[in-house]
Amino acid sequence: MGDDCAVVPIPRGHQALITTDFSLEDVHFRRGWHPADSVGHRCLARGLSDIAAMGGEPLAVFLSLALPRKLPQSWVDGFLHGLLKLARNFRVILAGGDTAQSAGGVMADIVALGSVPKGKAVLRSGARPGDRVYVTGELGASAVAIDLLSRGEEIRPRDFPRHFHPMPRIEVGRFLREKKLASSMVDVSDGLSTDLGHICEESRVGAVIEGDAIPLAMVGKSERKVDLRFALHGGEDYELLFTAAAARNVPSRIAGVKVREIGVITRGRRVWIRNKDGVKQEFQPQGWEHFKK
Ligand SMILES: [Mg+2]
Repeated sequence: MGDDCAVVPIPRGHQALITTDFSLEDVHFRRGWHPADSVGHRCLARGLSDIAAMGGEPLAVFLSLALPRKLPQSWVDGFLHGLLKLARNFRVILAGGDTAQSAGGVMADIVALGSVPKGKAVLRSGARPGDRVYVTGELGASAVAIDLLSRGEEIRPRDFPRHFHPMPRIEVGRFLREKKLASSMVDVSDGLSTDLGHICEESRVGAVIEGDAIPLAMVGKSERKVDLRFALHGGEDYELLFTAAAARNVPSRIAGVKVREIGVITRGRRVWIRNKDGVKQEFQPQGWEHFKK
């Protein structure tokens, strides 16, 4: 910082990965629901998760912030604390950005810069019929947190870490890219049904998902499993969804994160979900609509 532009070295033989994401007050977070450090953390996690989904290494991030005049300085400090703590975790530098006054709520725009060996980025378009479909971690916790918050319930961030402080799956993405295991990949930011749709769309394939195989998150103090619909359609879990050729041996745990096979890529263009009785239903994308109420 301090010059007109950041000068960022890209490792030799690598390509740059660049992604940008808004975090808008009352769209992606609420100040009444999310502690400032969680807002900062989630803002950066969105960008790093996109880098992870390409099998990339994060290098630097840029933050543009528009803040309402009456916003307490302590909120800004908390936001930056959350963002910088996560950045340090992945040895990413905050290399620049901009600030302005907002006439409305808090608006943060994060630009994440990463790199990947030339030609080795894992794309959404590489899935082939017969490939198996996998997902990391567990799904649905973030959507349940939003559901509870929107119903006026008080929840503690430490009971919902995957919502308030999601860890981007950088190491898993790197492993899958290095071992050439993943034929396609996406991060689960909009929800499994929507993000699987992105892979199928870009790869011009269909899929059959086994409802029974979906890893359901355990949430709350009582550690109960989330309802399947939250895992199928809820967004912001920031897990990785990927495909691998059937002949490839995908470990059941990568970098300490569980990996679960949930289905298979098919030739047709439609996406199906099969329940435990073998009944198939079309698996329509139903993105989680933020703060509908
Ligand atoms: Mg993404």
